Amino acid sequence: MKRREFVKYIGLAAPYYRWVACRALAAQGSLLLSPLWTGSAQAAGAPLVPVTELKHWSTPDYTRVSITLDQEVRFEHHKLPNRLYLDLQGTHLNAGVKDLNIGDGLLKSVRIAQFAASTVRVVLDLDSIKEYKVFTFSDPFRVIVDVKGERRQEISASKEVIESAPSEPKNVEKVNPPEKAKPVEKGKQAKFKPGRIRRIVIDPGHGGHDPGAVSPSGTREKDIVLQIGLDLAQKVRDELGIDVVMTRSTDVFIELQERTAIANKVGADLFVSIHANASLNRAANGIETYYLNLAKTEKVAQLAAKENGTSLEKVSTLQAILFDLMANYKLNDSAHLADEVQKALYKKALTGYPTVKNLGVKQGPFYVLVGATMPSILVETAFLSNERDEQKLKDPHYQALTADGILAGIKGYITSLNKG
Ligand SMILES: [Zn+2]
Repeated sequence: MKRREFVKYIGLAAPYYRWVACRALAAQGSLLLSPLWTGSAQAAGAPLVPVTELKHWSTPDYTRVSITLDQEVRFEHHKLPNRLYLDLQGTHLNAGVKDLNIGDGLLKSVRIAQFAASTVRVVLDLDSIKEYKVFTFSDPFRVIVDVKGERRQEISASKEVIESAPSEPKNVEKVNPPEKAKPVEKGKQAKFKPGRIRRIVIDPGHGGHDPGAVSPSGTREKDIVLQIGLDLAQKVRDELGIDVVMTRSTDVFIELQERTAIANKVGADLFVSIHANASLNRAANGIETYYLNLAKTEKVAQLAAKENGTSLEKVSTLQAILFDLMANYKLNDSAHLADEVQKALYKKALTGYPTVKNLGVKQGPFYVLVGATMPSILVETAFLSNERDEQKLKDPHYQALTADGILAGIKGYITSLNKG
């Protein structure tokens, strides 16, 4: 992913997921931080700020509500026994923004209305709540509410439709939670035992208006990774007999936080995000695999604070939120999966391209992986910014080889799990 696209990408992305895919970000210090609990620059008599969107995501661990506004505003939140409400000051509700019926066992619904001339009120009707967190992000300005508690019903009751690969049933939200999942159909090679890995989410990066990295000759990351992802999905189903859900199977844009939300929602056991790399150094080439680790972000935080003219204190508040979210992240399993995939992918690539470079397994703050509750990795298949790598990426043979390599890595990971 190129620097400019990257910045654009994170601009479109939501919350902490902004620390996205391409680790270039870390070097950019492009972390766009929004101070928590701060007020706005809005003066009295200033025009009202439109509230433009209200949405939610249900994951096994929490439900997130996001309120988007045209700019930063001052707000308050209050907790009542069965209700949580926010008053957004100096705001005006856009006509298209409607109440949400959620019914996922944590939240019954979210209601939104023009409460007073210059105040929009958002009311969360609670089913069950243990704790909640309210925080904000910028570009666009969003107020986020995360609610945790005991679910009284499965999240599969929620109505959101998740896009899935063509051979998937359309109603993926009806799938059983993993514990109750029936063994999936046996693949052609019945000898392979998927063990406890029943479902894999494959995430071709970018899509729609977000092309990802674009090579000088116009090859787009989003197209290449979709081809590899579709091929991989077919192979995982056929050769491993494991169920696959794609975050996208066509050229559509999906926000980062929705990608892991999909994986959480369908009870995926593994999450594999596929990307193509880019570097300002045109000579850079090779394969690398990432997993999420925020433990090494001290330097990044300092850089981010400097670049964004914000204080380290604010950066660490954000880090605190991130570390909190990391609690469910399967660090060791992700490292193990990354290792198997990198090893197998490199080995496979060598068979067709003897000069391919092994850049190894790396860790970093990748927003697309934040929020995933299963082992999750991000594969950078080759560099679109490198002429020779680009030729490979465009070649269907290399695309198939890449899918084969990732498949072999997943297989190796599952085999080692079964042994242990
Ligand atoms: Zn990418």
